[in-house]
Amino acid sequence: MTDTGKDSKIDDAIKAAAVDGVDEVARNLFGLCDVIGPRFAGTDGDRLAAEMIQRTFERYGLTDVHREEFPFTAWRRGRGAQLRLLVPRECVLPAYAMPYGAATVPDGIRASWVDIGTGSPAEIAEKGELLRGAFALTDGSSGQRKDIQRRCASAGAVGVLHGHNTDGMLFKTGSVDDGRESPICAVNIPAEVLALLRRIKEPGRLQLVVDCFCEPSTTCNVIGALHGTTYPDEVVVMGGHYDSHDISPGAFDNATGVTIMMEAARLLRPWRDQLKRTIRFVAFGAEEMGLLGSHHHVRANVEAIRKVRFMLNCDTPCMGRPHGLGFHKCAAAEPLVQQLSADMGEELTFANRKHNSSDHYPFMLQGVITAGVAGKSGDSRGTGFYHMAGDTPDKLVLQELSDTASFVARVLLRVANDDNWPALQHDECCGDAGSTS
Ligand SMILES: [Zn+2]
Repeated sequence: MTDTGKDSKIDDAIKAAAVDGVDEVARNLFGLCDVIGPRFAGTDGDRLAAEMIQRTFERYGLTDVHREEFPFTAWRRGRGAQLRLLVPRECVLPAYAMPYGAATVPDGIRASWVDIGTGSPAEIAEKGELLRGAFALTDGSSGQRKDIQRRCASAGAVGVLHGHNTDGMLFKTGSVDDGRESPICAVNIPAEVLALLRRIKEPGRLQLVVDCFCEPSTTCNVIGALHGTTYPDEVVVMGGHYDSHDISPGAFDNATGVTIMMEAARLLRPWRDQLKRTIRFVAFGAEEMGLLGSHHHVRANVEAIRKVRFMLNCDTPCMGRPHGLGFHKCAAAEPLVQQLSADMGEELTFANRKHNSSDHYPFMLQGVITAGVAGKSGDSRGTGFYHMAGDTPDKLVLQELSDTASFVARVLLRVANDDNWPALQHDECCGDAGSTS
């Protein structure tokens, strides 16, 4: 790739600085999760997190540090959801209103429910007219909750009961549309409640009251850069979203990603004179509301995006060894990872998949080659807790965040300095609809 002897000297220095930097990682991770807490787009937590990231970028000596504000439709929980079983017996059932689900009238909706299984198009079509005026009940295992929500609304359902798939009376949240309110309400119900309703079958009856609303708001992306010395207009982007859902401090999803990004910036800062091309770090806002920050960033910087040679996204990253890169619809990138592996003197894994549900996607739509931080999962737990109250930082191993930041910094260094970067193409047209993780 580049001058291997020089890079290996920098590698050693970056690795040593990462080992010494665990306290810095702890400060940023716990600052985001414990001091600020949930960072739901358009709330005080969201604003405080953006300010903290901006201060951190400044403290680390990045240049061009600024916030890129944008308007969006915020969803406010209000009093949330109350679900009651009316028939065959009266009782309160736990339920959690999901972002961008609609409110009900104050007295709520009384209706029966129809089990649509996994929520696949075929299952929804099969229920036909039965869904009209009823709640749709699903375990959601067919795929994207937003697609299920939209199909159920089109089929005339009055709301969707999205069942969780893990035992323990747990809720899992997630937006049910991208940046706008769904025409019908949406609640998450624990696996045990889903199972109960499936056993009762029709003609049971439920009452659902949801108090929530949408309103115009603003949020932002936070940007900082290390400018290239030879080709400053040519850019490598590293991104990760800092917002979370309101149910938890979003430790794994995605305080982890944004902490690793800040640490990679800190590790690279002493070597900025060695960077031929610019590395731009972007902490995206409102990813959980439908990739709103990354879509805005790409729209607002069309010219600059054309000069992005690579975008590395860090959202719920894998943090064990061997580290790796998971490309998005770019099989041709495999030799690149093999080359990086040889150059860095460590095993790296390559993966390639279709993935439209995070902030790399708007870049991909512009033809930019993108990858996520992949590889082995490591000892940090939390993967299974994303979008849940249990997504807390106690499950994370701080050394793994430092180690991953060191890996990321060394990859970015090489991508920024590679004079033989190949002109890669995506595997096929990638114009499918994007949506949130
Ligand atoms: Zn995420």
